[in-house]
Amino acid sequence: TPPELIRNFCIIAHIDHGKSTLADRMLQITGVVSDRDMRAQYLDRMDIERERGITIKSQAVRMPWQSEGSTFALNMIDTPGHVDFTYEVSRSLAACEGAILLVDAAQGIEAQTLANLYLALENDLHIIPVLNKIDLPAADPDRFARELAGLIGGDPDDVLRVSGKTGQGVEELLDRLVREIPAPKGDPDAPARAMIFDSVYDSYRGVVTYVRMVDGTLSPRERIQMMSTTATHELLEIGVSNPEPTPTKGLGVGEVGYLITGVKDVRQSKVGDTITTHRKPATDALPGYTDPKPMVFSGIYPIDGSDYAELREALDKLKLSDASLQYEPETSVALGFGFRCGFLGLLHLEIITERLAREFDLDLITTAPSVIYEVTTDTGETVTVTNPSEYPDGRVATVSEPVVKAAILTPKDYVGTVMELCQSRRGSLLGMEYFSEERVELRYSMPLGEIVFDFFDQLKSRTQGYASLDYEPAGSQEADLVKVDILLQGDKVDAFSSIVHREKAYAYGTMMTERLRKLIPRQQFEVPIQAAIGARIIARENIRAMRKDVLAKCYGGDISRKRKLLEKQKEGKKRMKMVGRVEVPQEAFIAALSGD
Ligand code: GDP
Ligand code: MG
Repeated sequence: TPPELIRNFCIIAHIDHGKSTLADRMLQITGVVSDRDMRAQYLDRMDIERERGITIKSQAVRMPWQSEGSTFALNMIDTPGHVDFTYEVSRSLAACEGAILLVDAAQGIEAQTLANLYLALENDLHIIPVLNKIDLPAADPDRFARELAGLIGGDPDDVLRVSGKTGQGVEELLDRLVREIPAPKGDPDAPARAMIFDSVYDSYRGVVTYVRMVDGTLSPRERIQMMSTTATHELLEIGVSNPEPTPTKGLGVGEVGYLITGVKDVRQSKVGDTITTHRKPATDALPGYTDPKPMVFSGIYPIDGSDYAELREALDKLKLSDASLQYEPETSVALGFGFRCGFLGLLHLEIITERLAREFDLDLITTAPSVIYEVTTDTGETVTVTNPSEYPDGRVATVSEPVVKAAILTPKDYVGTVMELCQSRRGSLLGMEYFSEERVELRYSMPLGEIVFDFFDQLKSRTQGYASLDYEPAGSQEADLVKVDILLQGDKVDAFSSIVHREKAYAYGTMMTERLRKLIPRQQFEVPIQAAIGARIIARENIRAMRKDVLAKCYGGDISRKRKLLEKQKEGKKRMKMVGRVEVPQEAFIAALSGD
């Protein structure tokens, strides 16, 4: 297809505003999916995505559309909607010339919509504002059309009104895409340059790489080269998705499609990288490539120690499809053998642990998430700490922690409680803006470490679910942080160590010691539970001694019953972990870590 007849676009929307449903209608109206084959959320393939209603991986679909007497190829590039995947969103946007800004006509603009809109504007995309769900009785399109026009400029009358559910307005939207979104530009005679905006592992076909051609052409059987590593691969198949993969004779300027090489691991085909040909390589890579950087770390342990090998295999498998997942073996006194894993954010952590449980049937325990601290010691050495147990206790000169810029959108009635929450999380207010009479945007600078610790849950519960949050990394800052250890009879329980702000150390210490006192059964001797910063004890609880004699309970009973009881006690012991001399049931660790 010549570039003049190509339109590349994506849909920017907050979760639940109807992106998948609108995509379904477009597939149907353009005829690429027949009514018979249509099922809801056609493009959301992963089970977890469908159940949780989130899009994890983006996809691209090509749809033919007749307009102005020609047949256009509309390439719809689906972007992940969540803050954890900002980098992937930015690469998907970079593959487009335009974006539909889709807003629920009963809800209005949300924080995620805004964050992605800013990214789209940074990439110079043409924005088409659209209100969705106008079939809903609660829809208030006049009001939100004004809000949208206020946000991006222009006339409220230019805001298109559609229903992804009934299909109303969707044809008009397709015509408008053709009319308003610029055709792609590129040099057909230059050395090939294609940008990877997604890379998906498929157990049958290996890695499927989604690309946007910028210059030149790629054809099958050609040797391609990854510009970040100069590694070369043979092109086994190249094609477009409409929406099933369909091989073509190649891809030219402005086209969007997929390609398959022999590669088995997405790390060899990285989002953001530029593909060129080995025969006639381009000299400059396309801008914007960075390696995915984990921001949040957590220990993952099998509840049953004998599942360790299975856990390793499962992580190896997931890694094939997720270049941003990192892990290395670690051991814990309390939890045994496991892995220290790095994630892009909290949702990413949740997705991975859920996939491990669901796809690999593993029972796991996850330690409290931690961020990356840069510690300078008194000898001037710099240590990167992603696990509290690596903290160079007693030798710390300075600590710096990652900071994010957070944007919170909330109805104005909740501004007070949201500000209180942000302040309690060491946030400093950067700005506040009324979006409409009803809705306010609050911008804060906040330590990431405070956000990973149940901030989102707190925000939701304080605002009855109405507030939305988005954040982006904004460097780091020095902070007065300390490591709090939890000791059982003088022995450290590594899984409970935490790096916290000095002012919160006491609160963390009392919370954990109290929790453990309730969870750990009495032993034959008194067990002190202490919280400490270095050698200084900041909180203490006691578990009183108890003589536990199972056999005494059934004095005089028959011997086989006694034997059974002994067996039962032995069984129970297997699930016990020893911390020094103290026996702790595994469940106590799990309960203490999960906080219920
Ligand atoms: P996404 O998270 O943006 O992909 O949103 P979905 O497409 O999954 O839609 C979220 C919910 O809104 C689903 O329950 C849809 O059925 C519903 N929905 C989507 N579009 C419309 C619409 O135009 N009208 C109505 N009434 N409901 C819609
Ligand atoms: Mg969706």
